Amino acid sequence: MSLGKYKPKKIEPKWADKWVKDKTYKWTEHKDPEKNYLIDVPPPYPYQDLHAGNFVNSTYQDIMARYKRMRGYSVLHPWGWDCHGLGAELYIQKNFNIFAEKAGVKRFREFCREHLLKNIENIRTNQAIPLGMSIDWDKQYWTMNPDYMKMVQESFIKMHGKDYVYRGKHPVTWCPSCHSAIAEAQMDRKEGKGKLHHIKLPIIGGRGITIATTRPELMAACVAVFVHPEDKRYKDLIGKKVKIPFTGQVVKIKGNEDADPEFGTGAVYHCTFGDKDDWRWVAEYDLPIRIILDESGRFTKKSGLLAGLSIKQGRERIVEELKKKDLYVKSEPVEQSIKVCERCKTPIEIIVKDQWYFATTKLKKEIKEAADKMKWMPSFMKARLTNWVDDALWDWVISRQRYWATPFPVWYCRECNEIIIADKKELPVDPVSVKKKCPKCGGDAKPEKDVMDTWMDSSITAIYVSNWLKNQRKDRLCELRDQGEDIIKTWAYYSIARCVAETGKPPFTEVLINGMLLGTDGKKMSKRRPKAAVYPQEIIDKYSVDVYRQWVGASNPGDAIQIDFKEMDHGKKFLNKLWNLGRFIERFKTKGKSKEEVSDEWIINSLNKVVKEATEFMEQGRWNNALKTVRDFAWHEFADYYIEMIKYRLYGDEVRTKNGAVKTTRKVLLAILKMLSPFTPFITEELYNELYKHESIHLSQWPRPGKVKKDLTGLGELMKEVISEGRQYKVNNQMSLGAELSEITITGPRELEKIKEVIAGTLRADKVKTKSGKELKIKIKK
Ligand SMILES: [Zn+2]
Ligand SMILES: [Zn+2]
Repeated sequence: MSLGKYKPKKIEPKWADKWVKDKTYKWTEHKDPEKNYLIDVPPPYPYQDLHAGNFVNSTYQDIMARYKRMRGYSVLHPWGWDCHGLGAELYIQKNFNIFAEKAGVKRFREFCREHLLKNIENIRTNQAIPLGMSIDWDKQYWTMNPDYMKMVQESFIKMHGKDYVYRGKHPVTWCPSCHSAIAEAQMDRKEGKGKLHHIKLPIIGGRGITIATTRPELMAACVAVFVHPEDKRYKDLIGKKVKIPFTGQVVKIKGNEDADPEFGTGAVYHCTFGDKDDWRWVAEYDLPIRIILDESGRFTKKSGLLAGLSIKQGRERIVEELKKKDLYVKSEPVEQSIKVCERCKTPIEIIVKDQWYFATTKLKKEIKEAADKMKWMPSFMKARLTNWVDDALWDWVISRQRYWATPFPVWYCRECNEIIIADKKELPVDPVSVKKKCPKCGGDAKPEKDVMDTWMDSSITAIYVSNWLKNQRKDRLCELRDQGEDIIKTWAYYSIARCVAETGKPPFTEVLINGMLLGTDGKKMSKRRPKAAVYPQEIIDKYSVDVYRQWVGASNPGDAIQIDFKEMDHGKKFLNKLWNLGRFIERFKTKGKSKEEVSDEWIINSLNKVVKEATEFMEQGRWNNALKTVRDFAWHEFADYYIEMIKYRLYGDEVRTKNGAVKTTRKVLLAILKMLSPFTPFITEELYNELYKHESIHLSQWPRPGKVKKDLTGLGELMKEVISEGRQYKVNNQMSLGAELSEITITGPRELEKIKEVIAGTLRADKVKTKSGKELKIKIKK
């Protein structure tokens, strides 16, 4: 069969399906434990289609998987589905109008499961498989399945035994609308204009102090007034007592270096709880706790006249009342940055509640030590994690007041409050469906209805994946973690904490970070700016999967990736060029002995250099440089020069030298195809199968570099220079490139002697004369 026109739309689905059918990427455990390469893949949320970020990191991890496989590793490239969580719940509520509160928890969970199973098949067939990833589809996991939930619950029990999980009354960041605790990482910041209210607070035995606050409605929770200790206006007031209007509590004026003399009046009041600083101050200044908001974000009786009002109503009311009492001075506009719930955009409040915690702050040292041992690609991303660890103030709240998640294997005694933990043999268990008696007092127990944060599932993916190994390694679970920059403070952080606490091993040894996908305008893609948002599927439809993957591969790991049609056009041209090289080479066969010429030696030498460089770049995770190196070589050395240098031999009568050219060409093209195969798996597979062997290029070995000889590199540059001068001469004289020349005289170094024949053949010159001289000079006669 001969290669026809390049038709990616035909060959891509063909190979994608064949790889799955043939189980091309099936993993078998290597006898040598060091030769297994396990990828802790980011499991996407399957309640909706894969999003742009999933497409990018899928490609990233696949480039790595294919490369490592060709380097002789047994690569375990699984696929996971991160099924649980608030995102899925809200999606079901919104799109199917089914609510756990109305339908019942059991029915709601069943519905979530059914929808996910349907959509998982949809994603697998229509999105994941066509992307041509080298996945072993027999190695899938679903976090909603009993075996996975069992692992999560077992881990919880172990951690409870080691005091890494505990129950406590703590302030939690709370979304009054989702009615759930929200981890720091699940918040967004919202910038906007607010009002800074200046309020006069009476000082006992004095005239009063004017404080500035954006949250006058929290006044009932005030426990102190802060001023900067060096602030001349207030220095004398430190230690004096203030009587808070309406609720009447007496609080002290204290010096606090965090109080900014430039902000508002320079004096602030401190309420439990406005934000995180407030919580820190409670501990630092040993202040009482006053709780005035309930879980729905309404004021409690403790707030006095605001009882029963919402936050917004409360704010209006207190301002009114203060004005009546002549305590309201004025308001001024202020730029505000508030934390809101990532899901529903409701401002986050802080309330105090019984919650389950994972003791991340106890593990700071261990997390940082593990991070130090990892290879971060790019390296500067490590600081994103370690800074986050350093700044972390609170433990991780792992309980959620939701429904679609892994349940806690826990009951509480109604009589004596004993916490009853499930036996390992019972797992997985939904405590609601099991009746328990208290082992201490024999009283009835009530089930824990809170469920686990979905990161509790996904932070032990590395444990699940490494469980496929028979021979565990002592110092690590998996090799590679590939993930987005935006989830370093969640997925990477929680994974390291959990795995180190549970197994004493880091979850992975290499971290590869991909940046965000940006629209054509260089901004984060948003449905609000539809013109600039181009989703991966559209790119694939317009070009091909190989073009899309090549564009992702051309990005610098860690940097944001901007939609760039210029690069995609360039990539498309390159793939056409590659295909045409294949078609050209296909025409020549070899038979009998062969003889290599200087041009052959030169291109092999250049190839050796390229293999060496590309391999180094791949090892460093800087594959954009590897891709560029290979592409430049294929296009600008191999196609533009070498192929031109051998045409006279290919079409000539001398069989041995013709064979030498054909063999060299095939050898170089093979290495190029192999080095491109992690990036553009389809075109390389097709060309390999048509031109070389009927087996997968992806199971072949990565090329090994031979020795690079400097003198050959110099000779190659000389050849290229003379040939391009000759071509330029023909263009200037309006001759065709194939036109014959009568004589070329070259003055230059002594090695010129060696390239006489190539020059004569390539430029079609009757005679080539050489003279030795310091400077390169070329004289051409028509
Ligand atoms: Zn919310
Ligand atoms: Zn009891």
